[in-house]
Amino acid sequence: MDTHEVYTHSGKLGTGLFVIPLVGIPAALALALIYAYIDVYSPIAGVISILFVIGFAVALGMTLRVVGAFAKVRSAPFMTAAGILCGLVGLYAAWAGFEAALLSKAAKAGEETPGFLELLAAPGAVWELAKLINHHGWYSIKSATPTGGVLWVMWAIEAAIVVVGVAIMAPSGVVDEVFCERCDRWAALAGGPARLGLPEDDATIETLALGGPEAVDALEALPSVGEAAVRLEVELRRCDACAETATYQVKLARQTVDDKGNVGTERKDLTPKYLAPPDAFSRLAALAGRPPTSAPPAGEAPPEDAGDAGA
Ligand SMILES: [Zn+2]
Repeated sequence: MDTHEVYTHSGKLGTGLFVIPLVGIPAALALALIYAYIDVYSPIAGVISILFVIGFAVALGMTLRVVGAFAKVRSAPFMTAAGILCGLVGLYAAWAGFEAALLSKAAKAGEETPGFLELLAAPGAVWELAKLINHHGWYSIKSATPTGGVLWVMWAIEAAIVVVGVAIMAPSGVVDEVFCERCDRWAALAGGPARLGLPEDDATIETLALGGPEAVDALEALPSVGEAAVRLEVELRRCDACAETATYQVKLARQTVDDKGNVGTERKDLTPKYLAPPDAFSRLAALAGRPPTSAPPAGEAPPEDAGDAGA
């Protein structure tokens, strides 16, 4: 059967080998220092420090996400490795900053204490101070001061949040994108997605999943449904410069309502990103502009079996 080629990243690193260390490591040091001082000087201690840790991980992870896209890195594994590296640097720097902040806060007026950079360059001292702080504890929740094993476990959880969190976020600006190797630039989303009703039979779903001209025919045959509770979406991406690198991807979109009544949309990829030849692309782009067909009323969930077919 005739099918379209699946888009995959070339694996090229762009300027990532220079830009990631040049921006990522200073960012890790600066964010770690800010995080450490907020943590130590926060009037509320204990559980809230988990929120500070998450804030630190998100700030560093999002910085790497932006830097990776800027450096035109077309390799998710490289960005994951960069995330682990910068996460570890950030974690160690946070320890140096934490100890520098704690020492200066406890110091009497006029007393000199080692600064952030001094501790950063002395891993042995950072380790000895960590053991000392662990022995005595440094904050209390309801008059209990965590020390020893309990505190080590809390610190291990915080360390995992930073390193794992940053490693997950760092490639997020790269994985879902399409890169035009010819023009050396990222492709952009081409308009909103086409919203289509679910096919009635499994055979059509299989045809869609395989991609190719038959999949385009099958998509065109489906009704347009607008914001239906369960629908197919066809996401299009195209290089704005040459318009030749173009992809389409079919997703299953499902409206969700949480406990508080907030409405959201959950999406699942039904196909990889297929490279679209110009005629297929323009036919799919036309689908996005097609007004909703009146047949199945928008907003009403299709029969259950149709929903299960895509799950
Ligand atoms: Zn291009």
